[in-house]
Amino acid sequence: MRIVFLGPPGAGKGTQALRLKDYLGLVHLSTGQVLRDAHEARTPLGREAATYFNAGKLVPDDVVVDIVVERLGQPDCAVGCLFDGFPRTVSQAEILDTLLANRGLPLDLVLAIDVPDDIVFRRLLGRGRTDDNEQTIRERLVQYRTLTEPLIEYYRRRGILRLVDGHGTEDQVFERVRQAADEARGQGGDQD
Ligand code: AMP
Repeated sequence: MRIVFLGPPGAGKGTQALRLKDYLGLVHLSTGQVLRDAHEARTPLGREAATYFNAGKLVPDDVVVDIVVERLGQPDCAVGCLFDGFPRTVSQAEILDTLLANRGLPLDLVLAIDVPDDIVFRRLLGRGRTDDNEQTIRERLVQYRTLTEPLIEYYRRRGILRLVDGHGTEDQVFERVRQAADEARGQGGDQD
């Protein structure tokens, strides 16, 4: 099964994706985490990426696409994959379509966690990550609303979108996420 997680920064995407990965036994592919790890390891990729994410900007498509291609090619991804933070633009979504089509794999479900900006802002300021200062949060929200949010319509037209209410506790949100995933599985998403 292949699932994409969408949602503004601070929507709880990462936390929910990890819980769903454990529940379904999928591989978790977080492009943001790969970039942060590369940054900590001081690799050239990490250094290049940091100039973007420290400013709240998206890194260029070819950089994240390389990461995804690399990871999808590893054998453990055969069990299925949960994309967390990718795609983030329509062009990345089109590339993902091609990558999956070339491998004969369907995308089964897109979960979009829905949270208003004021809550996102409060949560991110409390999180304390280095890319979480007021100005970068504002910039990331603008990037999300302009570049990533159009993906909701993109996947709605495909009939694989599920909006998940992001209000409430982690457990309450996970219950909604789990239900949506179970329904998608029931519709045949567990067959490969
Ligand atoms: P995340 O952990 O998903 O919030 O990602 C952290 C940062 O990594 C983002 O603010 C972007 O700068 C960068 N990033 C992660 N995934 C992508 C992507 N698919 N496209 C462009 N930039 C990304």
